[in-house]
Amino acid sequence: MSAEAPARIGFIGLGHMGGHMCRNVITAGFDVAAYDLDADALARATRDGARPSDGIAGCVRDVDILVTSLPGPPQVRDVLCGPRGAIAALSPGALIVEMSTSSLEAGRAAQAEAAAAGVALIDAPVAGQTIGAEAGTLAIYVGGEAEHFGRALPVLEAMGDPQRIFHLGPAGSGYAVKLLLNLTWFIQAVATAEALTIGVKAGVALDRLHTALVSSPATSNFLERDVRPVLERGDYDEGFAMKLVTKDLALAVELARDVDVPVELSALVEQIHRRARSLYGDAAGEMSAIRLYEDLAGVELRWRT
Ligand code: NAD
Repeated sequence: MSAEAPARIGFIGLGHMGGHMCRNVITAGFDVAAYDLDADALARATRDGARPSDGIAGCVRDVDILVTSLPGPPQVRDVLCGPRGAIAALSPGALIVEMSTSSLEAGRAAQAEAAAAGVALIDAPVAGQTIGAEAGTLAIYVGGEAEHFGRALPVLEAMGDPQRIFHLGPAGSGYAVKLLLNLTWFIQAVATAEALTIGVKAGVALDRLHTALVSSPATSNFLERDVRPVLERGDYDEGFAMKLVTKDLALAVELARDVDVPVELSALVEQIHRRARSLYGDAAGEMSAIRLYEDLAGVELRWRT
C-alpha cells in the first residue's frame, strides 16, 4: 500500500464476486468495514478480517473509499441513493467505486446525487469470473474523471490485474464496455452451442470437431478456453447465475435502444438465454444456453476419454 493510499475502505456486496474482492482488499493492507444483507456473506468477510457493519450508514461512516459489488441497477440505487443510502451517509470528499454490472442510467442518477453531496463516483465493473475475483486478477473497466481513477487505483490493483485496469473515459464508459463485452461473449456462447450441436449430430466426434474449429478462422477464446468446463465435465459455471446473465443482456439491449442502434441479433440472443433461465432456474450457471441446445438436440456435448 503506498503512503498516500486511503486507510479506510467500506465494502458493500459480498457475494460470489464481492466476497473475494473484499478479501483481496484486506490482504493488500487496507482497513475494511463491510456490509451485506446476507448474514452468511457478512460472516465470511468478518472471518477474512473485515469489520462487520449492521447497515449501510455504519459501513460508510468515515470511509475514504466505498466499493460496491451488487447484482444490478435496482440494488445500486437502493444502496447508494435516497435518504438511507450511502451517498447521504458518506463524508464530503469520499469516493464511491461502483463495481457492479449496472446501467448508465442508474449511474447517472447516483452521479447526480453524489455531486450534490460533494462525493465523487466512478463506475468500475469487472470481468474475469469468480476465479479472477479470487485470484485478484480481474479486468476492470473504469468510467469517470482521471483524478478519481488515480485515487482508486491502489484499491483496484488489490482486486485486478494491473495490466488490465482500463480508464475508458467519462462516467458510464466502464458500464458500457462491460455490457458490450458480455453481450459479445453471450452471442459467442449461442453460436458455439449451435455449431457444436450441429457438428455432433452430423456425425463428427466432438474432440475432432473442437480441435478443427480451434485451428480455424472460426476460433475464439470462448471456443478454445471458456467452453472447456462444459465439454470436460458438464460444468455450466454456477459462479455466474443466469439471473445475472439475463440482467446483463437486457441492459445491453436497453443501451442499444438508448443510443438508437437496432440490434436484431442481440435481442434474439437475449431471448435464448432467457429461455435457458426459465428452464433451468435463476441460479443455473452462465453456460446454460449450451445445455438448452444439448437438450433440444438430444446430445450431450462431452469429451469421452
Ligand atoms: P451475487 O448475487 O453473488 O452478490 C451480490 C451481493 O449483494 C449478495 O451477497 C447480496 O446479498 C448483496 N446485496 C444485494 N442487495 C443488497 C443491499 N441492498 N444491501 C447490501 N447487500 C446487498 O452477485 P455476484 O455474482 O457477486 O455479482 C456481483 C456483480 O458483479 C453483478 O453486477 C454481476 O453482474 C457482476 N459480475 C459477476 C461475475 C460472476 O462471475 N459472478 C463476473 C463479472 C461481473
